[in-house]
Amino acid sequence: MARVRPRGISGRFSGVDWEGFLAIRLSCHSGAVSDSWPHDLLDWYGAHARVLPWRNPPGAALPDDPDWPYRVWLSEVMLQQTTVEAATPYFHAFTARWPTVAALAACDDDDLMQAWAGLGYYARARNLLACARAVVAQHGGRFPGEEAALRALPGIGDYTAAAVAAFGFGRDAVVIDGNVERVVTRLLALAEPLPGARGAIRAALATAMPAGRAGDFAQGLMDLARRVCTPRAPRCLACPIAATCAGRQTGAPEDFPVKPAKKARPQRQGTAWWIEAEGQVLLVRRPAKGLLGGMLALPSCDWRGQAAVPPLSGDWQAMGVVRHGFTHFELALTVKALRLAARPELDGEWVAVGSAATGLPTLFAKAVQLVLAHARDDGTNAA
Ligand code: SF4
Repeated sequence: MARVRPRGISGRFSGVDWEGFLAIRLSCHSGAVSDSWPHDLLDWYGAHARVLPWRNPPGAALPDDPDWPYRVWLSEVMLQQTTVEAATPYFHAFTARWPTVAALAACDDDDLMQAWAGLGYYARARNLLACARAVVAQHGGRFPGEEAALRALPGIGDYTAAAVAAFGFGRDAVVIDGNVERVVTRLLALAEPLPGARGAIRAALATAMPAGRAGDFAQGLMDLARRVCTPRAPRCLACPIAATCAGRQTGAPEDFPVKPAKKARPQRQGTAWWIEAEGQVLLVRRPAKGLLGGMLALPSCDWRGQAAVPPLSGDWQAMGVVRHGFTHFELALTVKALRLAARPELDGEWVAVGSAATGLPTLFAKAVQLVLAHARDDGTNAA
């Protein structure tokens, strides 16, 4: 396990066994000794835990509710690449409309995709349904509690399996997300960039995790990461585990996790077409598989650089370009508009221009806003 030696510290630290860092004792300012950072963390978490609708209070027994793991799983899927603030209203709406995994499994696909609109990363919504249906079909409508069985379900990877096992069932699972990684790479001053450092992180947490408190331990680390050990400016003076933190001793804890050399995301181009007639615009449903699968959208090409052929010929007007970042590429979407006196015969759904952005994924909502702004600027009729 490679660690970075504290910056500006020599002599007295030269004999430290960095390999066995978690086992050593470091003196803190008061002269007391801190060798119990997991318990210091749990004490801090007990006093400062955020109240979240999918979270059990620190130290409390899990709710006597067979659908508790469903709520935990739903929240974890929503929180993938989405903030707590953005996910919370969706969580309330989903659990009010589909209070059990069986209810979610029985819902209409289109209803779910529409309810998900705005959360982004739409593959999650498709996996959500597939997973709910698998839980009903394979497990009688109850999530399994073992990580291996959870990982076998659609859309559940290592992190979510551990989170559901720990937060939903109280199992001693090691839960590691990006925030936990940040805290632990600082705590241990790990010199190896991610993902190579993950083995060391997991081993350290498995050793340090107090038995029976896996959920509180992980959520304590997550809260610490969000409130104290923040990405750019960690507040070490307010940190309950500062006395044990090697990253702090380096003088530059914000340098952890060490960044690997950055690769630029590939750029792609595409075209979307706005076809307007009789106060309505044409929307199409994208194929079920692939990016934004199953979502309503403006007609568009496949964004792979082939010549973009419009759905019909006419006097297309350039509206501008919308830029949007996906996980693996950046898209520059050229938007063109055609305004006709009567609706042409084309597959799709005609919707009122003024409500065209409602329920669209962010990329196409941006394209709609671009057209509407263009129309306002030049006094054409889109409204
Ligand atoms: S002491 Fe600073 S760097 Fe270390 S865990 Fe606490 S906030 Fe993060």
